[in-house]
Amino acid sequence: MKNFKQIFKEANNKISGIAAAPGIVIGNVYLFTKEKLDINDSAIADTGEAILNFEEALQKSKKELDKIFSIAKEKMEANRAAIFEAQLMILEDPILIGSIKDRICKEKKQPEYIVNDEISKYQHLMIISHEQYMNERANDIEDIKNRIIRNLQKKRWQSKITHDVIVVSDSLTPADTILLSRSNVKGFVTDHGGLTSHAAIISRSLDIPAVVGTHNATKQIKEDDLIIVDGFHGYVIVKPTQAQIDFFHAKAERLAELQQGLKELKDQPAQTTDGKEIILRANVDVSGEIELVITNGAKGIGLYRTEQILEELGEFPNESEQTKMYEKLATRIYPDPIIIRAFDIGGDKFKFLSFTEPNPFLGLRGIRLLLENEKLFKTQIRAVLQASKTKNIQFMLPMISSITEIRQSLSIISACKEELKNAKIPFDKHMKLGIMIEVPSAAVLTYELASEVDFISIGTNDLIQYLMAVDRGNDLVSNLYQEFHPAVIRTLSHILKEAARANRSASLCGEMAADTLAIPLLIGLGLQILSISPTTIPYAKRIVRSISYQKAKNLADECLLCETEKEVTDRLEKFFNENSITRTRNII
Ligand code: PEP
Ligand code: MG
Repeated sequence: MKNFKQIFKEANNKISGIAAAPGIVIGNVYLFTKEKLDINDSAIADTGEAILNFEEALQKSKKELDKIFSIAKEKMEANRAAIFEAQLMILEDPILIGSIKDRICKEKKQPEYIVNDEISKYQHLMIISHEQYMNERANDIEDIKNRIIRNLQKKRWQSKITHDVIVVSDSLTPADTILLSRSNVKGFVTDHGGLTSHAAIISRSLDIPAVVGTHNATKQIKEDDLIIVDGFHGYVIVKPTQAQIDFFHAKAERLAELQQGLKELKDQPAQTTDGKEIILRANVDVSGEIELVITNGAKGIGLYRTEQILEELGEFPNESEQTKMYEKLATRIYPDPIIIRAFDIGGDKFKFLSFTEPNPFLGLRGIRLLLENEKLFKTQIRAVLQASKTKNIQFMLPMISSITEIRQSLSIISACKEELKNAKIPFDKHMKLGIMIEVPSAAVLTYELASEVDFISIGTNDLIQYLMAVDRGNDLVSNLYQEFHPAVIRTLSHILKEAARANRSASLCGEMAADTLAIPLLIGLGLQILSISPTTIPYAKRIVRSISYQKAKNLADECLLCETEKEVTDRLEKFFNENSITRTRNII
């Protein structure tokens, strides 16, 4: 039997894109192209009638959007559905409506021409801003413009989908995604859009597999073509061979079986066969994932990457907006804890500086940037403190490399507490503070740094990058990014011993914990709290429940003596075979 690589990765009928929403689906294509609207720019005689037509089209558009908004609210989290609320507000914008009406009266031209021209002006401003966020908002506005024009022309949006299909489109607006999801759509493929595009976010919320950013899928795929969408790896296979179809059917079946089995595990404890309880928490990137956190049985949120809020919004939310966001998550996850990490800006995340640093990963990133921008840092601290009334919030600092950074942060946090106290604003006086250990200097000084705070969390994504001097995002050196390198394992062991010596709790929130091969080793090294992406929790729990802590400890001791990465992985694989445990990577 051919393997995954031959069947899929190396296939020549494959289109690559971004894995936007997990899942595998096989189906026929529905090419979704927006009908091109012809704009009539002729002169009109009766401006009164034109204004009435415009008002009617506005009312109709509002009604349609109201309906979409209520479907969205049913199907997804309120803050996602708010996209449509924002569109409704544009339809009610008195300045925009006023200037369209004025122009109809003055220029005596068809309202559809004026609507197109006036709204396009706004869009143009957004597009030339070259900000990804503004560009995406320009798409939303396109949707409103077309909706009004369509209603002026008295045409109806119609989904011609009558059977299960995979929608392939140049791009999708949030409204398209919602409406299409109601009509037998089993998957989405788009030429444009990134992981944070609305179509991607909505697909994830609706649990519909999606691959976005394929650049030219609409050119390579024809209506009715059979395609396979792999939302785990970001591939689309066009007109699959019988071998590929069989492979995917088997894969989808195994996945369904596995998910069924995993669902049954949801309420079972993550306990080793000899009774050691492991706490599995979730890493949350976008607040929309919270329902996944709950359905997958996470015991709290071990890492909330708040910088993702900035990626989504394209700006810093103010203090009260942030407070609301944090409060909402804390309440939803209560009484389990949520660890809110201070904005980890810099590196490859959210562009903040107006200039480009020569080595952004070694530059003004994480805590360094926050300490340089105290106002911004204080806004976040005050928001986190105000949300902490629920008493299940903990706060964590990224990229700590020295004790001075902790002490400076502690003094800013104390000042914020004092301000709130004076203003009689309630907060959790005992809110726990932790640090990420993800820089080698912090790893070496774990005992001293941990002693300053309440807990530590190991960020292996960065720790490996900095320890091995390998850029975590650079394909050219990805073979040198070795999570099982003996230096990595010995560093982890050192951190855990030193945290225990300082009597502080330690967890791990890097991707390493989501690699099922690593789980016995991490537990054996002494980790009792792992934080991973929500959908990988059931897989991790299955591994935990099938190993003995004592055996894992012996395994870790053996791995600590290894000299090469290969020796370590061989030893780990042997452990899986000896104990008949199946690894997730073999399945999906
Ligand atoms: C890490 O570095 O391991 C980590 C969890 O943080 P991030 O991936 O957000 O840098
Ligand atoms: Mg990190």
